[in-house]
Amino acid sequence: MDLTFTPQEEKFRSELRGWLDANIPETWKDLRFWRGISDDEGFELRRDWERRKYEAGFAGIAWPTEYGGRGGTPGMKAIYDEEMALARAPQSANGLGLTFLAPTVMAIGTDQQKRDIIGPMLRNDVIWCQGFSEPGAGSDLAALRTSGVLDGDEYVVNGQKIWTTNAMHGDKLFTLVRTEPGSQAHRGISMLLIDMHQPGVETRPLRQISGASEFGEVFFTDARVKASDCLGGIGNGWKTAMLLLSFERGASGISQYTNYRRGYDEIAAAARKLGRDTDPTLRRELASRLVELECLRYHAMHVLTQVEQGRDLGSESSITKLQWSEAYQKLFETFDHLLGLDGVVAAPVDGLDLASLQFEAFWTRSVTIWGGSSQVQRNIVAERVLGLPR
Ligand SMILES: Cc1cc2nc3c(=O)[nH]c(=O)nc-3n(C[C@H](O)[C@H](O)[C@H](O)COP(=O)(O)OP(=O)(O)OC[C@H]3O[C@@H](n4cnc5c(N)ncnc54)[C@H](O)[C@@H]3O)c2cc1C
Repeated sequence: MDLTFTPQEEKFRSELRGWLDANIPETWKDLRFWRGISDDEGFELRRDWERRKYEAGFAGIAWPTEYGGRGGTPGMKAIYDEEMALARAPQSANGLGLTFLAPTVMAIGTDQQKRDIIGPMLRNDVIWCQGFSEPGAGSDLAALRTSGVLDGDEYVVNGQKIWTTNAMHGDKLFTLVRTEPGSQAHRGISMLLIDMHQPGVETRPLRQISGASEFGEVFFTDARVKASDCLGGIGNGWKTAMLLLSFERGASGISQYTNYRRGYDEIAAAARKLGRDTDPTLRRELASRLVELECLRYHAMHVLTQVEQGRDLGSESSITKLQWSEAYQKLFETFDHLLGLDGVVAAPVDGLDLASLQFEAFWTRSVTIWGGSSQVQRNIVAERVLGLPR
């Protein structure tokens, strides 16, 4: 495992840090600012900020320059993730597209798709949503029923998707659709790239435990999509989806570590302010959380070293997903133990933004579900990494 960065990578770090210092308003670093504006306003601010970041040359860090990226090393991408977390930069408005769809298009898209999809995505002209889950098909994704029937050179799509992140702000949806009538399980599925701004597509927000509505439902009623707007070939949707999901699960753990370590420091500070820092049970819990976070950091550096050596992690990326999501969730369970019943109200504590920590505690309930639940990740590790029987 290599724990160092090259001088060139460190030079990139200071250039990026200087740009972030000059371009992130102080008000943005206080999470109360984001909670005080509407979902729509927040989304537009993030969309515009990300566009400016692209124009300054800080987007697609490790992507080839032919796609508008910076052609950097995996180390530079890790530095970028870390610096964004340290600067408390806003979350990407186009994360699903940038992290999952773009590398899939680069790997298996047609030349036309590479031209049409990647540039507009980097500039944030087109926001992408992921249309996989359905009311009867979550972990058991192959049970999906949304159908596409060929009519001339277009598919006519009917059905419903659910839990679609950014549904209310999306422009296009990479969608799993059953294009072979009567097909079963993972056969006969295609990944269609559907325009959300058409009469046959309706979106409805879903309200979350935190009060936010960052995901929603998507209904297709005779929605239309050109047969050529299919990624990976008609009938190959399952293979395409598995490739795409491998990018989701293997995402770098370095920015997660940086973010969660900040959360840890804030929770430890809250324990001191509340006079709970002498409670032996809580101290033991906090110590365990810190150890888990440090393990996450070393695992992230291990993964980075492997990627830099050109290794494809495949199913091992499930280990990364398990590790970061469970460390994060447990950290905020410790926060819940610290606050006890006060955790259900936004009780102010001198100098501490407890409401933002509470908001984050609600969010952590979801991280062991999306991107494949912990149980499903454990099945993958057991069967495909350890070779255990089904
Ligand atoms: C915040 C958030 C954002 C999301 N964003 C998107 C999005 O943008 N696009 C999208 O398509 N989806 C999205 N999802 C949906 C997500 O992918 C699904 O919630 C997830 O796949 C689980 O499916 P489910 O909710 O139907 O649960 P189910 O599949 O019904 O699972 C219920 C429980 O059973 C367990 N279980 C299921 N199968 C097995 C098994 N074989 N072995 C052991 N245990 C099992 C699960 O682990 C879970 O505990 C999002 C979800 C969340 C919470």
